[in-house]
Amino acid sequence: MIEVAPGVIRMQLPIWMPGLGHVNMYGLLDDRGLAVVDPGLPGPKSWRALKARLKTAGYGVKDIHTVIVTHSHPDHFGGAGRIKRESGAQIVTHKAFTTWSLEESNRRNRLPTEKEAEEAERMAAAAAQALDIGGEEIPTIADHIDDYEGDVLREDPTEAQQAGSVPWGGETPWGGSKHPLPPLARRLAIRALRRIFAPPRPTRRVVHGERVKLANRDWVSIHTPGHTIDHLCLFDPEHGLLISGDHVLPSITPHISGVGNGADALKSYIQTLDLVAALDGVRLGLPAHGHPFDDVPGRVEAIKHHHEERMELILAASTALGPATVQDLAHEIFPKRHWGVMAESETFAHLEHMVIEGKAERWEDHGRLLYRAA
Ligand SMILES: [Zn+2]
Ligand SMILES: [Zn+2]
Repeated sequence: MIEVAPGVIRMQLPIWMPGLGHVNMYGLLDDRGLAVVDPGLPGPKSWRALKARLKTAGYGVKDIHTVIVTHSHPDHFGGAGRIKRESGAQIVTHKAFTTWSLEESNRRNRLPTEKEAEEAERMAAAAAQALDIGGEEIPTIADHIDDYEGDVLREDPTEAQQAGSVPWGGETPWGGSKHPLPPLARRLAIRALRRIFAPPRPTRRVVHGERVKLANRDWVSIHTPGHTIDHLCLFDPEHGLLISGDHVLPSITPHISGVGNGADALKSYIQTLDLVAALDGVRLGLPAHGHPFDDVPGRVEAIKHHHEERMELILAASTALGPATVQDLAHEIFPKRHWGVMAESETFAHLEHMVIEGKAERWEDHGRLLYRAA
């Protein structure tokens, strides 16, 4: 537990999925108790750590009056539903918050016992391992992008849309992906994940520019689609604090999925990177993974540079190969240990951006998309 700014503490929670190690839960303290940002994965392991961290800081779950969820990935929303049940806390998200799993409140069944929750967590961890996905790599549902106007989702996604928005769940939009599991095993693994990843129902959905008073200061909500379509950052203009979620991370570049993330996810991402870099007086980034960092514009430049470089690599590979599939190109730009549906999904996001920008051409051939540098 570290105080990163007056009235703002950082608490690390473990992640039991492959990949990331931990997520930062921030506590925003005030006279009523505290608000927490991104209370970790669902399941008993993370919950025990959450209670222990709060205790060290001198708080209990009942002191939490607000939960802010930066976006619809399970390592961020996981603990929110249980906090709401135990303390009556408000849950604040961006207006577009929604995921590929059914909401907790849509489930008629009673809550699981502690033992059942342990079992569900164990099964989900095994499923994540088998599907070769990490906590950062679970996409949001937003393929019904036609319903997405500004920042309003008109209707809740159907189950079929939800299934279709999971790139490791079925046929991918670019065709020809090799999934790590055969279809039946994949369905079972996804069912195990769905059970534990049911998101909570937000009590307050904010839009870009709305004010949220927490930790005795006014935060401005900044809608930052790109990593997910519902990503929300919070900015404190007085102290220059930016709660950056997974939008800007200090040591890794956030995953940009081409599935269920809008027509041009990369463009949304780059534009909203520029948006946060230009915030007047931004002084300290408080990321969801890794350490707080002080040069937000510098980090934004480095991430943008990474994507520029990746597009140059794709263009060079495409020129060398001629007409090529998403798999061909993903294999050119990712090291072999990263090959798979997630690498393809990110390559697809880059290729679609290049098509929209006129830098590449796309056509369909026998159920697969082919691309060529324009
Ligand atoms: Zn994350
Ligand atoms: Zn994320």
